[in-house]
Amino acid sequence: MVFQSTRNNSPAVSFKEALLNGLAPDGGLYLPEFIPTLPSDFFVGLQGRSLAEIGFVVAREFVGNEILEGELKPLIEDVLSFDIPLVEVSPGISTLELFHGPTMSFKDVGARFMARCIAHLDRNANREVTVLVATSGDTGSAVANGFWGVEGINVVILYPSGKVSHIQEQQLTTMGGNVTALEVNGVFDDCQALVKQAFGDEELREKLRLTSANSINIGRLIPQSFYYFYALAQREDPLDPVAICVPSGNFGNLTAGLMAKRMGLPVTQFVAATNANDIVPQYLATGEYHPRPSTKTLSNAMDVGKPSNFERMLNLYGDSVEAMQGDIKGFHYSDEETMACIAEVKDGFGYQLDPHGAIGYLGLQDLQKSNAIPGVFLETAHPAKFADVIEEHLGVEVPLPPALQELMDKPKEAVQMDPNFEEFKSYLLGRN
Ligand SMILES: *Cc1c(COP(=O)(O)O)cnc(C)c1O
Repeated sequence: MVFQSTRNNSPAVSFKEALLNGLAPDGGLYLPEFIPTLPSDFFVGLQGRSLAEIGFVVAREFVGNEILEGELKPLIEDVLSFDIPLVEVSPGISTLELFHGPTMSFKDVGARFMARCIAHLDRNANREVTVLVATSGDTGSAVANGFWGVEGINVVILYPSGKVSHIQEQQLTTMGGNVTALEVNGVFDDCQALVKQAFGDEELREKLRLTSANSINIGRLIPQSFYYFYALAQREDPLDPVAICVPSGNFGNLTAGLMAKRMGLPVTQFVAATNANDIVPQYLATGEYHPRPSTKTLSNAMDVGKPSNFERMLNLYGDSVEAMQGDIKGFHYSDEETMACIAEVKDGFGYQLDPHGAIGYLGLQDLQKSNAIPGVFLETAHPAKFADVIEEHLGVEVPLPPALQELMDKPKEAVQMDPNFEEFKSYLLGRN
């Protein structure tokens, strides 16, 4: 399989190159040259298939002969070493719990797959790869965890000092080994600017093999399609009509679902649900796309004003808003609605949502007002990761699971840095 830029102005590349490049040279995002259709017997036998089995069948289509089947199988099993159960929350609404991985957000799936694929594809290189990531919270820890202990790869994470939650900071700064955390005296945009400048610096590019692991990387997107099939595999009849609602920020998760649909996923309707950052729901309603600076909300992992994967969505629908509207309905919710939903679902059904999942739940509820179809929403993070907001707004305590409790007691290790490129550059060169 080869991969092409959404802007069609760069050469097509292999899976390995697409992973290592991240962004295409023309500034576009990589997509496979075509989306393969899975054989019909895959769907006939879908019920009861294991997550790893599904992952293997789907991944094989994209990695082609770059990773041999005998090597792909254990790699996928290692990536998907935790379950992604489908759980009923209320009548007609189930959730796909994507938070049972090591950092308790769905981002674990993409980060682990990408890390293991790079390690495998690059195993004969004689120079190490340095992965640079700027993070406002969840991405950094999933990437760090995904690459942790992977030979031949160093990870440098930049996070804004005082701007991530205590849990997130512990997740970023206690890994050790091949993972270094840089605590930048600035905001997220400063971290991102440093990373961008590093990629544009010839000397750095020459001396270090830099790569990025942010959500534009196709290596994170492909594995996110696995669990859509696995969600349906856990239903009584995987071929029954179903709506899937995806709480969205950069729209990577939803784009992976749209790719799964092209592969044959029997989904009737997608719902894109956002917080106040409703750029895509607005586009679906009006046909006009107006990115803008992001608004801060309580579902902060979705505070995105210029969703990077929108370019891929447009590409998949041939730039036609009508075609996109045929598959996706958009809804958006305020913080008040989000918190009220968390309280209602907890009181009514005993299920603890996190703020992101709550927006997914709300999206399905709204869809079901006009369409009595059963629905699945993605629960993208463990509620304990947002225990502070839930406690503050609802006065409900969310107990920390043992793995997070243990993490809270580990000593923090971070390198302090000013948002100064020369300082950052000499730090990177000095490590080598
Ligand atoms: C990253 C993240 C999202 C947004 O996912 P996208 O693929 O960027 O749309 C939603 N919820 C949580 C908890 C996240 O960490």
